[in-house]
Amino acid sequence: MREHSGHRGRRRFRHDHEPRVVAPAQPCVVCSQPISEMASAVAFGPEQGPAHFDCVITELTKRESLVAPEKIAYLGSGLFGVIVEKEQNRFEIHRKIPVEDPQNPPAWRRELRGLYKR
Ligand SMILES: [Zn+2]
Repeated sequence: MREHSGHRGRRRFRHDHEPRVVAPAQPCVVCSQPISEMASAVAFGPEQGPAHFDCVITELTKRESLVAPEKIAYLGSGLFGVIVEKEQNRFEIHRKIPVEDPQNPPAWRRELRGLYKR
């Protein structure tokens, strides 16, 4: 069992949904640190290399020159967005930022899918 304490902010998948196969860690294209959970890596940049989810958020935050209270959020299907949170868990999308191309996954992602589909 993994420790629950000490990990950084982002919500994780529950353990019982976690694949049992451990994918080899690859370096993040943003910070060059190994990505221990390849299943949560984001295909980022012109090369669509693997990146930490948190690194992508950080990069987009820098790049998008946000105006408070705007923030970056993952919208799904490879799309991130500049959003403003509203009351009752709703949010308003100000801009959409395509990060991954769902039609054309990079090789490392296709390899992962192969691993997890067993
Ligand atoms: Zn990183």
